[in-house]
Amino acid sequence: MIDPFGRTITYLRLSVTDRCDLRCVYCMSEDMEFLPKADLLSLEELERLADAFLRLGVRKLRLTGGEPLVRRGIMDLIKRLGKHVAAGRLDELTLTTNGTQLAVCAEDLAKAGVRRINVSLDSLDPAVFRRITRTGDLKKVLTGIAAAKAAGLMVKINAVALKGITEYEVDCLVAWCGEQGHDLTLIETMPLGDIDGDRLDQYLPLDAVRRHLEQRWTLEPLTVSSGGPARYVHVAETGRKLGFITPLTEHFCASCNRVRVTCTGTLYPCLGQEDAVDLRAPLRAGESDALLERAIMAAIDHKPEGHDFIIDENHRRPALSRHMNTTGG
Ligand code: SAM
Ligand code: SF4
Repeated sequence: MIDPFGRTITYLRLSVTDRCDLRCVYCMSEDMEFLPKADLLSLEELERLADAFLRLGVRKLRLTGGEPLVRRGIMDLIKRLGKHVAAGRLDELTLTTNGTQLAVCAEDLAKAGVRRINVSLDSLDPAVFRRITRTGDLKKVLTGIAAAKAAGLMVKINAVALKGITEYEVDCLVAWCGEQGHDLTLIETMPLGDIDGDRLDQYLPLDAVRRHLEQRWTLEPLTVSSGGPARYVHVAETGRKLGFITPLTEHFCASCNRVRVTCTGTLYPCLGQEDAVDLRAPLRAGESDALLERAIMAAIDHKPEGHDFIIDENHRRPALSRHMNTTGG
């Protein structure tokens, strides 16, 4: 799959549910209404969809959500998808999780062929963590991360930069990730979906965080790119990598190799644009995958060049009405 700008698409992020056991302040409102269950693709449909993308050239598959590990039966799907890794048809099967279910799932994930996971963790202070997630128990997440490590999974921590919080939390996160052997990626908040507050009150540009970090840590730029949106440095004192994902202060679209599919089967060729193609209808049109594959190829032919997020005094409203848990982070 090669898009009109010459980018080869090899990476699919597949959302398996919009539901979540947390309510992070930057992701959704407290009384978020979830989709009716009937709208969601079944596990069998999700598998068919993933298989079609693999046939078309996808080599990396990330399951996300909502919280992927709260979807009933998800471990069965992960085990079936893991067989593609064992057979060499897929280079990597991974997921992004909030970590709350890892104590139970970590070993099964490792057995299924998952090698690395991303865990979202914005603070190591139990009260601050609760304030950000509205309902979360930090201890449960830390126990889950420890279980993942014990099961042999590599854990990368993702933290969203939040004004009034990250300035105080980030040194602790960098130090803890160093002690625990995790890489860390900091992410700027993106204007996706209505939340209860004002995005401008949350938005903290990462160049400010980086200047703050440089006063305490030796950040050595790494030239090797992972092909993804993060720009990495090496933290000399901890020996770990630290990534910066800056959709607002620096675009990363030129090297984009990914597309996203929602849990209802909508394919978004770009996280930051409204362009979308429905895959549920072709999936449900019959047993042949010909229509499905045609719809996927048509979407790749129209992948936009990039996004244009802005958050400032004149742009406080969401750039896009859909939430991150709907598109899949
Ligand atoms: N529930 C899982 C988790 O939190 O890791 C997976 C889904 S979550 C939507 C994926 C990632 O998106 C998380 O790292 C989360 O912090 C991030 N995220 C959610 N809303 C965001 C926003 N508006 N801007 C930037 N990142 C966001
Ligand atoms: Fe749930 Fe992840 Fe969104 Fe937090 S960021 S509310 S954990 S989907």
